[in-house]
Amino acid sequence: MDYLQLLEDLFAAIPRQGPGSPAVLNRALALCDLDPEQALQVADIGCGTGTSTLALARALNADITAVDFLPRFLARLELQAQEAGLDKRIQTVCGSMDALPFVDNSLDLIFSEGAIYNIGFASGVNSWRRFLKPGGLLVVSEITWCHANPPATLREYWEQAYPEVGTASSKIQVLENAGYSPIAHFLLPQAAWTEHYYAPLAEQFAPFLARHPDNDDAHSIVADNQAEIAMYNEHSADFTYGMYIARKL
Ligand code: SAM
Repeated sequence: MDYLQLLEDLFAAIPRQGPGSPAVLNRALALCDLDPEQALQVADIGCGTGTSTLALARALNADITAVDFLPRFLARLELQAQEAGLDKRIQTVCGSMDALPFVDNSLDLIFSEGAIYNIGFASGVNSWRRFLKPGGLLVVSEITWCHANPPATLREYWEQAYPEVGTASSKIQVLENAGYSPIAHFLLPQAAWTEHYYAPLAEQFAPFLARHPDNDDAHSIVADNQAEIAMYNEHSADFTYGMYIARKL
């Protein structure tokens, strides 16, 4: 099993592959102020195993296309959609978020949680904009400083790992420059990381290592994720995900 397949094996076992929660999703949707009567065309980009895709399908009168490049995540979403009777309204696409298959001006809502960093926030919001109808909404979460003065060591770490890390105001500037009208943003609460993401992830470390006992990559994946959890616990007041809601002009 190669490194990516190992990651897929660990993360397919948990409901979310990044921070978020039902409360976060509901808050974001409330800020969108959508017309409940309107039938919507929605994309969930970097959907993972699709816990939020399923929640979107339950909350909205929508046809949803869920995009991810890892087939095992999409297989789990497809199974759950079938079990929930939502499969007629959820279509999956196995592909890359930098080569999306949508028609220009065709989507009412683009949702993307914890995923846009893979192509960079600025690149993502610029390149996805054309798929939205005029007036369509972008709902996207992105790593964000909670305040303007994060500790120097943490700043160095994140600037190395993800050079676009910034404050909420810098993300809003990017949205404005890309031709969106920012409607709202909020910072994800701690529970979206700890209770809804890291706790289920940490429960999977032992069974994952039991499946791959002599695999060095598996051990280093667990060590990396344990280090990430420790860093988050130490610095939860300094960084989080921001959720950004913006309308295409
Ligand atoms: N949205 C899900 C959630 O919040 O639980 C998953 C978030 S996870 C941190 C990021 C997701 O983006 C993963 O499912 C990963 O497979 C997907 N991904 C990474 N790079 C991608 C790319 N270039 N194209 C499509 N999906 C990608």
